[in-house]
Amino acid sequence: MKPRLRFATRSVRAAPPPRSASTPLVPGIQLANVYVFQDLEQVDAVWEGQEGGYVYGRFGTPNHTILEETLASLEGGEAGLVLSSGMGALSAFLLGGLRKDDHLVAGRDLYGATTALLREQATRWGIGVSFADATEAASVEAAITDATRAIVVEAVSNPLLRMADLPGLATIARRRGLMLLVDSTFTSPALLRPLEHGATVVHHSATKYLSGHGDVTAGVLVGSRSVIEAARAQAVRVGLNLGPFDAWLTLRGLRTLVVRMERHSANALALARFLARRTEVARVHYPGLPEHPQHILARTLLPDGFGGMLSFELAGGAKAVERMFTALTGDARTPGREGLIPFAPSFGDVTTTWTYPARTSHRPLSDDERAKLGIGAGLVRLSVGIEAIEDLEEWLDLALRAAGA
Ligand code: PLP
Repeated sequence: MKPRLRFATRSVRAAPPPRSASTPLVPGIQLANVYVFQDLEQVDAVWEGQEGGYVYGRFGTPNHTILEETLASLEGGEAGLVLSSGMGALSAFLLGGLRKDDHLVAGRDLYGATTALLREQATRWGIGVSFADATEAASVEAAITDATRAIVVEAVSNPLLRMADLPGLATIARRRGLMLLVDSTFTSPALLRPLEHGATVVHHSATKYLSGHGDVTAGVLVGSRSVIEAARAQAVRVGLNLGPFDAWLTLRGLRTLVVRMERHSANALALARFLARRTEVARVHYPGLPEHPQHILARTLLPDGFGGMLSFELAGGAKAVERMFTALTGDARTPGREGLIPFAPSFGDVTTTWTYPARTSHRPLSDDERAKLGIGAGLVRLSVGIEAIEDLEEWLDLALRAAGA
């Protein structure tokens, strides 16, 4: 039979989706950026939220909803929001949760771009920001003013692995009626669920452990429905949406989160002990080591593992870092020399990577600010992957010999 519609018309109209009594084991990727309505009553009902339904890509897609509900369940929160990056998620929190002339107290020891966002951008939005030592709740409390609405900290800080005093901060936040946002990127919900310890909002760069394979840039907020919906409204307005494929990849990463974090933690603890024995290393920062200043707190908050991140100070300073760089970079074309540890300024991948905060994540800070934080010229950060520990030890041995030469 001759089709009723002409060729050019048929070519732009897809055949209807096939019916299947059985359902897929894993969700598909819904790339459609706009949805079709049957009548104007349906338009009104969906727009007003009386009936569930998607409208337009920037507002969300089924892949976002699945990921948000999964993350809310993993963190133990009422609602979740996934956005284009960790920085996007923090921006949405600030825009949704705070107003002009509000104030927040942030940990002094944060990812460099977070410090820069708070200090340079939040203040342009009219939000006052003070920095305090998050390892001491009293120091944070001393910075609170009548205008303070939120406390912003990293549970385990980047790059010095200092632990925020979550129990103390939660008590203050509850007593003063403040929001407590905890960036839990270093630990993931497999190791730490900040809401169980009194936080009101959890923040992640899902670029790291949640997706876990170095192929996604995404951010997450989980918390009460009111905080999340306020952040969502602002994110939709300014356009911080994640692509559905990235939401799908993050969900796929989550399926192996528990086993990855177990292995990341076991390898990192072994390497922290290995590094602590070396003369080329002046100091190792890892919460799983008894000499870490908050090891007791770490044992309480992280009973299932101390995570895959560690940093250490090379005794030889910046020159030693340069020698380590040459030794670890290897040579992609020489068999046996291709597999050393890549210098890559991110973390949370299944592959071990290393970076130099003074020239990467903490570049926005002045030398003086870095020195005050304890980020010395010889500090390097290791994101410990899930490879065989023997190979990692061999590579680091080689790197340290070069660094110490
Ligand atoms: N929080 C921490 C602890 C981070 O290390 C990073 C990025 O490295 C971010 C937030 C920002 O995340 P993103 O790069 O996904 O915007």
